[in-house]
Amino acid sequence: IMKFIDSQYVSKMSEITNELYKHGWDERNGGNVSMRLTQSEVDQFEDLNNVLRNIPIKFDATPLAGQYYLVTGTGRYFKNVHNFPERDTGLVRIAENGTSVDLVWGFNDGGQPTSEFPAHLMTHISRQKIDSNQRVVMHCHPTNWVALSFTHKLDEASVSQLLWKMQAESMVVFPEGVGIIPYMTPGTNEIGEATADKMKEFRVVMWPHHGIFACGDTMDEVYGLIETVEKACMIYTAIQSQGGKILQSITDEDLMDLARSFNVTPNPRLFPM
Ligand code: 13P
Ligand code: ZN
Repeated sequence: IMKFIDSQYVSKMSEITNELYKHGWDERNGGNVSMRLTQSEVDQFEDLNNVLRNIPIKFDATPLAGQYYLVTGTGRYFKNVHNFPERDTGLVRIAENGTSVDLVWGFNDGGQPTSEFPAHLMTHISRQKIDSNQRVVMHCHPTNWVALSFTHKLDEASVSQLLWKMQAESMVVFPEGVGIIPYMTPGTNEIGEATADKMKEFRVVMWPHHGIFACGDTMDEVYGLIETVEKACMIYTAIQSQGGKILQSITDEDLMDLARSFNVTPNPRLFPM
């Protein structure tokens, strides 16, 4: 029996938030991460038996009642999480009424879950309907991805095709492409609803002029997904800075060969094969 602070979950959260910070994708308090833990995982720890506080949330998360989430706090700097995990993150259980959460660990200076908690929890609701293994939602501000939202047409097919052609890894890692919502005010239920709706089709959603929302089974997988998307955008930025004239590229035919060879199916709505 051990303390939660010494768990693999806290150390993974510390590691990933630090990596995101080092990439420059989480300036100041930018970005937030949530990770679902199962009851049996929570039961392994000696210090998760008491409700420390009840924290209201501003929408109804009843479909997730009883579930546990390790989540970053609002206003907290990713630069600091690895040094102060018990202050800058918290483990919460969604209350039975759905409109509040019970804090069982962390936020020990009075903190609260991220302001993007509606978008996180609504995304968890969407994704669990598709795949019960989905556990992680991650939001950050990757520089080249955000820049692309200013210079490129905000169309899912053309952005997805661009990113697939920037490197041979892209289509293998996100064959379903990327979803795009309109620019919306951060932290609102509205941006949460729009994001969760896109998450029925995609694991990556663009928040134009702001950042990325991504989900998956594990912290490493979601982090790797964001890295791959941002790398494709970085290559596009480098191409533009070399003058922008593309002399040769990955062709549609090459993409089809890639998909066949890696046994992935590109989103037929965005890339009819
Ligand atoms: P929080 O500090 O509330 O997590 O907000 C950061 C952010 O990136 C908002 O979109
Ligand atoms: Zn943000």
